Amino acid sequence: MAAILIYSEKSSLALELLTAAGILAQGCSSEVKGLCLNNDEQAAEMASKGTATFHIKNENINPADTASVAAALEQAAEKLDASIVILASNRRGKELAGRLAQKLQAGCLTDVTGLAVVDGKVQCRRNALSGSVIATQQIESKRQVIALAPRSFEAAPAKEGGSIQDLEITAAASPLKVIAGRPKTGDTVDIGAAEILVIVGQGMEEEDLHWAESIAKSLGGEIACSKPVATDRKWFPEDRIVGLSGKICKPRLAIIMGVSGQVQFTVGIRDADTIMAVNKDENASILQMADYAMVADLKEVLPELAKSFG
Ligand SMILES: Cc1cc2nc3c(=O)[nH]c(=O)nc-3n(C[C@H](O)[C@H](O)[C@H](O)COP(=O)(O)OP(=O)(O)OC[C@H]3O[C@@H](n4cnc5c(N)ncnc54)[C@H](O)[C@@H]3O)c2cc1C
Repeated sequence: MAAILIYSEKSSLALELLTAAGILAQGCSSEVKGLCLNNDEQAAEMASKGTATFHIKNENINPADTASVAAALEQAAEKLDASIVILASNRRGKELAGRLAQKLQAGCLTDVTGLAVVDGKVQCRRNALSGSVIATQQIESKRQVIALAPRSFEAAPAKEGGSIQDLEITAAASPLKVIAGRPKTGDTVDIGAAEILVIVGQGMEEEDLHWAESIAKSLGGEIACSKPVATDRKWFPEDRIVGLSGKICKPRLAIIMGVSGQVQFTVGIRDADTIMAVNKDENASILQMADYAMVADLKEVLPELAKSFG
């Protein structure tokens, strides 16, 4: 039976890939196999979700060298008879997807947000035309490499029946040497994982930012922003950008203030459960997509909003 092989160096993402692979496995009559590289903890976690997990222990594989990881995955895909390899579409996963697809002579799609099997064929949903449409695309080659956008699927729940097996591969020592590592400094908030977001746009004035921050704090949420607020005004680091060039977010609640609602922004927030938007222009397109739309001048309403959310 052909296999669907999943791999991500991040365990939280690997568990999301497992859920997606499970959906495909039913439609394609395939078996899901999980892959770990030098990571006992991750192997145990995948096995605890009922996955046949294969563990490559080889110190020559350098996780910082995507070419080295791709070479290991190529051998694993061959040995495990994988017709589909599912990766995470994070920065490293996207690079890996391209490298692996080239090695396997496979078709490749990244930033995939949804999957279905129709008449035995895997159909992938992706944003197209800057997110203004959702395209359904299908890889026609015999082998497929698919990279899934983070948080497109729930993490797989615990399940009996998993196993861990060592998998031998040959790996030449990577020419890339990591000389030193240092923890990421500055902003460590992941707005993509936040349950509540208060998002500010260019309609906000810098002197009023403290109101937005106070609302976010009262609600236990995080502050995020539109692109120009980070790139032009430099009020926040670029990690806080919502949208096509930033993060795709799915909070339970998004309070959006002074954002016009261009498609490059809305693609990053349209899957929020509830959207409240404030804009002084009644024709602003953000108000069309909001569950609660407030036509108001932020200068006037921010103190009241902060009081009512406080
Ligand atoms: C390839 C590409 C990728 C991009 N990626 C992204 C992305 O990832 N994320 C992103 O955000 N943008 C992105 N953009 C930019 C995007 O097209 C918009 O330019 C941007 O989203 C606009 O930001 P904004 O809504 O904050 O500002 P504006 O469009 O200037 O809107 C400001 C809004 O505030 C309102 N306003 C003004 N004053 C007040 C007030 N006192 N009270 C209430 N409302 C007020 C105005 O009515 C207006 O609607 C991208 C563009 C391109 C070309």
